[in-house]
Amino acid sequence: MSGNSARVQAVHQITNRQLMPPKPPQRLEEIWAANVFNLSKMQASLPKAVFKSIQKTIVTGQKLDASIADVVATAMRDWAVSKGALYYAHVFYPMTNITAEKHDGFISVQGDGNVISEFSGKVLVQGEPDGSSFPNGGIRDTFEARGYTAWDVTSPAYIMETDNGATLCIPTVFVSWTGEALDKKVPLLRSIAAMDKAASKVLKLLGNEDVAHVNSSCGAEQEYFLVDANFASQRPDLLLAGRTLFGKPPAKGQEFDDHYFGAIPERVQVYMQDVEESLYKLGIPAKTRHNEVAPGQFEIAPFFEAANVASDHQQLLMTILKHTAKKHGFVCLLHEKPFAGINGSGKHVNWSVGNATQGNLLDPGDSPHDNAQFLVFCGAVIRGVHKYGPLMRAAIATASNDHRLGANEAPPAIMSVYLGSQLEDVFEQIKNGSVSESQHKGVMDLGINVLPPLSKDPGDRNRTSPFAFTGNRFEFRAVGSNQSVSGPLIVLNTMLADSLDWIGNRLENELSKGSELDAAIITVLKEVMEQHGAVIFGGNGYSEDWHKMAVEERGLSNLPTTADALPVLKEEYVRELFEKTGVLTPVELESRFEVYAEQYILSIEVEAKLVVSMAKTMIYPAAVEYLSQLSATIGSLADLGVNLGKESAQKVADLANSMMGSATKLSEAIKKHDFDTTEEHMNYCATVLRPLMDEVRGYGDALEAEIADSFWPLPTYQEMLFIK
Ligand code: ADP
Ligand code: MG
Repeated sequence: MSGNSARVQAVHQITNRQLMPPKPPQRLEEIWAANVFNLSKMQASLPKAVFKSIQKTIVTGQKLDASIADVVATAMRDWAVSKGALYYAHVFYPMTNITAEKHDGFISVQGDGNVISEFSGKVLVQGEPDGSSFPNGGIRDTFEARGYTAWDVTSPAYIMETDNGATLCIPTVFVSWTGEALDKKVPLLRSIAAMDKAASKVLKLLGNEDVAHVNSSCGAEQEYFLVDANFASQRPDLLLAGRTLFGKPPAKGQEFDDHYFGAIPERVQVYMQDVEESLYKLGIPAKTRHNEVAPGQFEIAPFFEAANVASDHQQLLMTILKHTAKKHGFVCLLHEKPFAGINGSGKHVNWSVGNATQGNLLDPGDSPHDNAQFLVFCGAVIRGVHKYGPLMRAAIATASNDHRLGANEAPPAIMSVYLGSQLEDVFEQIKNGSVSESQHKGVMDLGINVLPPLSKDPGDRNRTSPFAFTGNRFEFRAVGSNQSVSGPLIVLNTMLADSLDWIGNRLENELSKGSELDAAIITVLKEVMEQHGAVIFGGNGYSEDWHKMAVEERGLSNLPTTADALPVLKEEYVRELFEKTGVLTPVELESRFEVYAEQYILSIEVEAKLVVSMAKTMIYPAAVEYLSQLSATIGSLADLGVNLGKESAQKVADLANSMMGSATKLSEAIKKHDFDTTEEHMNYCATVLRPLMDEVRGYGDALEAEIADSFWPLPTYQEMLFIK
């Protein structure tokens, strides 16, 4: 089928499509967590003592008592079998952003040839997938390829339903036989433990006697695009790279701002409801849904949960968004920049820390005591972002997120903190040593000094900040839509652990010198502000002025590409941070650098190859076909004495030649493989391959503007974004 007839057929299919009828609404109470083996199901099916023991493990994160594993496994299996599951899977999260699972049957063949369904405590608690096919960054040689999965009891097991049946899924950690973390869950759990330890110490110094386990929370807002599968299947770039490598922006983009919070198209709404039903059954609290800024772009945000569970749920949510899209004839694009020229997608990671006794520690609170406590935790965050901003940048560095950061639609690649004018003013006063003046009325006494009560909703939002205080939490806005939230959460928890540890020691020191608590707090926070206040910025993060000021006057790092950011993982101060907090050993950290760098290089190389092949085998032939018709017409008209200008033919020919010239340069450039270091290879991708890809694309997009639409082989931006 020549280009356009396939496109015409796609449009026909889509516009004549029967809408999937919306499912009859189910009562939330009936479906909520129906597929989760949660505490209440355990309570109903386990002997009391066993339930008490496992409950303790879940709440406090303590080690599972091995002697109860068999009893729990049997109850879990009975429940899963009653839900139609024949298989179980240990689900784990390798260093790539994916979710991996290995399925095993409950089936056990007996001596007499009969089968029974069997599931022991041993297989519940530990699995042994063949680890060799997952990137390990050099941790294991292939002869030691064994990897182990172990049940993370703090994240509940669940049933995953697909059209092909139900599977019992067990969230697990993934480690090498030598005990090194091969995944994103182990360091996340360790980072929570490190933060808990440091936070508890500070809370006790602040005079709290009863201090419960401190956990971190995460609520992630997920943006995504939906494109009809009839179009996507005609775009090799969408299928293999998840983004368009060619495509001329449509005459109408997002200029009118008419998509944001607009009415959700009916077909999309049916899809969303289907997604939400699956999420509810899995106990994932989907809460908000709306259109996003770009045409064809949407957002879903679940209510926040404990970081570890939220992270597992995020992975599930991405899987469900994609699977459900297929059922509805869509392809769900989680790529950070599927379409050039219109907004990309992010994943805002809302993050806080708190516990059962003191509540949300990043909530200003109502009493002077709570207020002071809040300022201490907030100060710890400020110090963390200043000391480890480059590490935060590295944690969100991927080839795809590079397209979005700093492109005047997403925060710049410079890490700073936005506090809102009121809180910024308070910290400014602490720095100046006189907290007596307040911008706002209703002054509150902190004992030695005066602080204003902080309003819970500062109201003014700053969309240009990578990391913003939003009233009772921080919002890490620079995270990519395709990413696991674990990486960013690990960094946030770990840097907070480090800062709280430092603050705890300083407070102790001041108190031992005989300082009053309030005075000690102000002294320490003043020090934080003097050393780290430069990271606070409330202005326009997109502006050129800021980029200049941030680097030249404030000494902050601007790391525009992944090639610039990932080497931060090799810095001595980062190695020290992870080692002393016990979150990652130097070997584990090094392996992460290797894996992420390899991912970066591979994804650019795959895209570069695709650019060459699409230019040569799709766009060039379309140009030639068009030229052939055009030239024949020019010739036969000339025979009649009619002059049809040759300029258009010349222009198409010139563009086609230039595109092929650049494509040839690019395909030569891809062949280079002799690099001394991984860093050099990454830089080559960033500074040689990427610009060449853009060059080829430039000619390709210019051709799209010249060639008759009926010859164009690729579904256009207009079609993909506006036809639903
Ligand atoms: P907005 O678009 O205004 O940023 P949303 O309602 O879309 O807000 O998303 C806010 C997210 O922040 C939700 O997932 C919400 O549950 C989460 N959130 C609220 N409080 C906390 C908290 N203490 N810790 C972590 N996340 C939180
Ligand atoms: Mg938000």
